[in-house]
Amino acid sequence: MLVRMDDILKKASAEGYGVPAPNIMDAETFRACLEVARKLRAPIIIDAGEEHADFIGEAARFFERQFPEIPFAVNLDHGSTFEGAVRCIRAGYTSIMVDRSQAPFEQNVSETAELVKIAHAADVSVEAELGHVGQGVSYDEDRDAGLTRVEDAVKYVEKTGVDCLAVAVGTAHGRYVGTPKLDFDRLTAIRKAVSVPLVLHGGSSSGDENLRKAVELGIAKVNLWTDLSNGACDKVKGYLERKEFPSYAGILKLGLSGYKAVLTHYMELFGCVNRI
Ligand SMILES: [Zn+2]
Repeated sequence: MLVRMDDILKKASAEGYGVPAPNIMDAETFRACLEVARKLRAPIIIDAGEEHADFIGEAARFFERQFPEIPFAVNLDHGSTFEGAVRCIRAGYTSIMVDRSQAPFEQNVSETAELVKIAHAADVSVEAELGHVGQGVSYDEDRDAGLTRVEDAVKYVEKTGVDCLAVAVGTAHGRYVGTPKLDFDRLTAIRKAVSVPLVLHGGSSSGDENLRKAVELGIAKVNLWTDLSNGACDKVKGYLERKEFPSYAGILKLGLSGYKAVLTHYMELFGCVNRI
């Protein structure tokens, strides 16, 4: 069943588990996510880019018929323009992430609030980021610069009307250069101060123990891409080394199996198994 993302996350927040939001590349990775969700009886959030808008609506309707028992949402990941967000709402995404995390606070508030109004009118939920989750390659230099301030988070949620808040508490996108250090005190304080579900970007390579604890302290959605991609690539590399004449079908099949294995691991870690 295709649902709004906040429906999935409100339940996860209330019951104390996390839901993975894997980035998909195409219809096959979309299907792979739903197959894992069905096997584990878990809800799932499909994170897609604006570039997927040409097929996502049709694909979501198709997969809704194939996987009627799975609650899933399709979320625009890191929507950076007004036009792109509206295009994705029209295309059938059930949630949009509005990323103005590098804009000044007031600009972030006003641009996000405007899209919240539009999204809600179309029955689409909104995630937005306050503070800024940077890149793992520059982790040591910019981890501290972007951390979400608790008092700003309260104001931000109130002024924008967002349904879910992405927070910067020490994670980063992609591979880390340096050791990830999460600010659990900050996360706890934000959790106490705001009522909407919280989102963690940059889940990959953050460490199982860190992620488990983040979920325990109130993170309801964890974004994942790099680890899924690496899981797929590792399987393909092994296959290429073994086969003198590999087949394209074999490469695709193994890549998807690696992607699914990593997603399975994270679903179990976040506690969302057997939740439907
Ligand atoms: Zn992100």
